[in-house]
Amino acid sequence: MTQATNNQPSTISTNNGIEILCIGSELLLGKILNTNVTWLADQLALIGLNHYFQSVVGDNSERLKSCLIDSSKRSRILITTGGLGPTPDDLTIETIASTFKTKLIENQEIINDIKSKFRFSVEIPKNNFKQALLPENSKLIPNFTGTAPGIIYSPSKDFTIITLPGVPSEMKHMWKQTVRDWLSDHFSREEVIYSKTLKFTGISESSLAEKIPKLLQNKNPTVAPYASLGEVKLRITANAKTAKKASSLIQPIETKLKNTFELNYYGSENETLASIVIDLLRKRKEKLSVAESCTGGSLSAALTEIPCASDAFVGGVVAYNNYIKQNILGVPNNLLEKHGAVSEQVAKAMAIGIKNTFRTDWSIAISGIAGPSGGSSLKPVGLVEIVIFGQTSYQSIQEHFGSHRERNQIQKLSVVRALDQLRLFLLEKS
Ligand code: ATP
Ligand code: MG
Repeated sequence: MTQATNNQPSTISTNNGIEILCIGSELLLGKILNTNVTWLADQLALIGLNHYFQSVVGDNSERLKSCLIDSSKRSRILITTGGLGPTPDDLTIETIASTFKTKLIENQEIINDIKSKFRFSVEIPKNNFKQALLPENSKLIPNFTGTAPGIIYSPSKDFTIITLPGVPSEMKHMWKQTVRDWLSDHFSREEVIYSKTLKFTGISESSLAEKIPKLLQNKNPTVAPYASLGEVKLRITANAKTAKKASSLIQPIETKLKNTFELNYYGSENETLASIVIDLLRKRKEKLSVAESCTGGSLSAALTEIPCASDAFVGGVVAYNNYIKQNILGVPNNLLEKHGAVSEQVAKAMAIGIKNTFRTDWSIAISGIAGPSGGSSLKPVGLVEIVIFGQTSYQSIQEHFGSHRERNQIQKLSVVRALDQLRLFLLEKS
């Protein structure tokens, strides 16, 4: 298959806008999360292109047609996802052809590609050959991981449609292989947009915003806060003639933010608390083990998400039942009876138990009441005990995340808090 190459017009001005349309009734029914639109929006920002509209439409030819007509009137580029498959509900290509009164022409390259992808099957489903029909004068976007190809098609000199499949992995592949470069080549940008994300924890969005009112009003670079559970991000975005100039505008702001928030700043871009903790341990050539009760393994999951985490993370035990706390971690029965499973004493014994059993330099233990039921006035839902054991000392934290919180929020906040406390402990000891 040949890659999509050129298509009219040769240069498109960003002023005329890009938009994204996700096609699929499942999206309207709330059955799936529209991750394609967030991913594409981020990718467009990364190559410095703004887009101005995002829409969703079901698998319905009439309504899809009306979306295509609307966007042809207001945008230069429409990127669609979904509806490229072989089944009758996949209507994207035929609706584009009928809307813009273009013939569908059989593409031999696609037929050969489908035949080669089905070479181990007894019979090729007839429906699949529908995918070989493309609007006249459209360029092919090859799909190396599935059978549904995309197209770059300009029904007029001012309007181009780029179709991508709904399956996220195929869509991403085709974006990286073809679409990203095509857009970069065809858009004349007078300025580049460059951004950097700094990440903070242990501080709320409002406290953070209160300390930097002037920076939040800044025009170039702009500084925008984004809060999620347990962390706040600040995205610094600069416009300039060159990437170098944009990055030099960002640099002083980045330094200022790091100095203002000191230890609340933990990393940037793709770094996570877990990756920072693994890096710190790796540098010290030290190992960590964990004993989890209410988090049920999510602390271990966060750590093992980091490639090569085994350099620093040995493993963990989900000690949910008291029997496991006693028999695997060696928590004395009298501690459980006297203080209860959610207590500093038991969390400390869990941390000692896992550290000794797994022979690590550091350990973390978490025991808490994630709810929604099971709390008492002394120990309400949201109470979490975290103990971190180092070589010679330990730290214990009691957190009240609040009984209004949902179970998974309490679990996630416990993981964030535990990782952050270990990060601070490691920095203190360095
Ligand atoms: P297929 O060959 O699988 O039919 P397609 O291009 O026709 O591919 P759809 O049928 O629209 O794509 O979607 C296929 C699957 O891809 C959906 O069932 C869903 O799991 C996923 N998907 C579709 N659109 C999105 C989206 N916007 N965000 C995330 N996932 C999506
Ligand atoms: Mg489909």
